[in-house]
Amino acid sequence: MRLLALFDGTIADPEAPHIRVDDLGLTRGDGVFESVLVVDGRPRELGPHLERMQRSARMLELAIPPVAEWERLVAAVLAAWTAPGEVAVKLVCTRGPEYGDGSPTAYALAFTVEPHTIERRLRGASAIVLDRGFDPEISERAPWLLLGAKTLSYAVNMAATRHASAVGADEVIFRAADGSVLEGPTSTVVVARGRTLRTPPASSGILPGTTQAALFRAAERAGWATKVEPVLVSDLTAADGVFLVSSVRKVVRVHTLDGAALPDASATWSELNALYEAEYS
Ligand code: PLP
Repeated sequence: MRLLALFDGTIADPEAPHIRVDDLGLTRGDGVFESVLVVDGRPRELGPHLERMQRSARMLELAIPPVAEWERLVAAVLAAWTAPGEVAVKLVCTRGPEYGDGSPTAYALAFTVEPHTIERRLRGASAIVLDRGFDPEISERAPWLLLGAKTLSYAVNMAATRHASAVGADEVIFRAADGSVLEGPTSTVVVARGRTLRTPPASSGILPGTTQAALFRAAERAGWATKVEPVLVSDLTAADGVFLVSSVRKVVRVHTLDGAALPDASATWSELNALYEAEYS
């Protein structure tokens, strides 16, 4: 099932045309978005998602509707939702039509989470390391690169994902020019060693993940240590477990990296996944 909610309160058909051909989101990828997971009718991490959307918009100098209006939009689309199963709600805001009145284009698109996404949580994934082409220092030096903003310019992320598929891998882990680990094209990297979880810092030009934050919160309560610090590619192979986490993906164990099997992290995955789920019970 798929459903569209517009800012004027209308629930609309997602198959019908709604966007002008000169919309700057279409012609330049100039806009921001968020993908929120909804389980049993309850959105997960909605506050952090909406705060991050505002932060992304500030980085683009884009005036978007305030948090409360997005909350209303999410509530409206969920009130109209009737299908069973998990739902992903994509919140989108573009700079609007190039020859318009200057107002942004904003909507929420809800859709059922795909079965293959749910299967991957249980099966785990193979991943390859691919170059992202920037060094972690550049993020602060060159804010116009919009590193760490969740913009609609995801063509590079999607191309990397297609490259992975072409070589038989499920997922990508981006590497910075200095050899450190960044993130996946649509996920955060989390590494487990002993009872410590690590993830690379947002200052390296990556998106601060809402799922990673929730997982770290849950793990800390259960006695895990957590660290936000640079992670090297060699740390991935030396780890007890490598995980890719994101809202819709949840927690996915990487079982194979660059064609080589990683140590079996099924037990660690079960524990971390249970901790993550318990956040919402
Ligand atoms: N990094 C990137 C580039 C992403 O696109 C995403 C989500 O799509 C994430 C990380 C994970 O973020 P979250 O856990 O908030 O979904």
